[in-house]
Amino acid sequence: MKVHGGCHCGAIRFEAEVDPDKTMMCHCTDCQALSSTAFRVNVPTAAADFRLLRGTPKEYVKIGSSGARRAQGFCADCGSQIYATGAEHPREVYMLRTGVIEERQLLIPKGQIWRQSALGWLGDWPGIPAKPQG
Ligand SMILES: [Zn+2]
Ligand SMILES: [Zn+2]
Repeated sequence: MKVHGGCHCGAIRFEAEVDPDKTMMCHCTDCQALSSTAFRVNVPTAAADFRLLRGTPKEYVKIGSSGARRAQGFCADCGSQIYATGAEHPREVYMLRTGVIEERQLLIPKGQIWRQSALGWLGDWPGIPAKPQG
């Protein structure tokens, strides 16, 4: 499905093609820290299907537990998180943060990853299959 999004201040706008069935919750500690909340919800888009319409996200490169370098794209003005992708070019897949997508109501998580670090007060969401790690 086609989705439209942008950061809170409006400096960045984008559109993308996503498969809603690939929407995932991530409970990893990096997602908790980078989102400054309990977990993050992501949906992938192929680089060829991701189009920046306005602005240029700033990128912070983090080293994942696998050693992979991941670029975290966000708005340098308002801080909204837009995506994560491989730090190297060319890029193949962008993991879009669903909170900045207008159609997020339709992006219902189909799985949970890194459940082992989920916060204890969260429900189990038994309808959403969970993997202990990534
Ligand atoms: Zn912004
Ligand atoms: Zn994560």
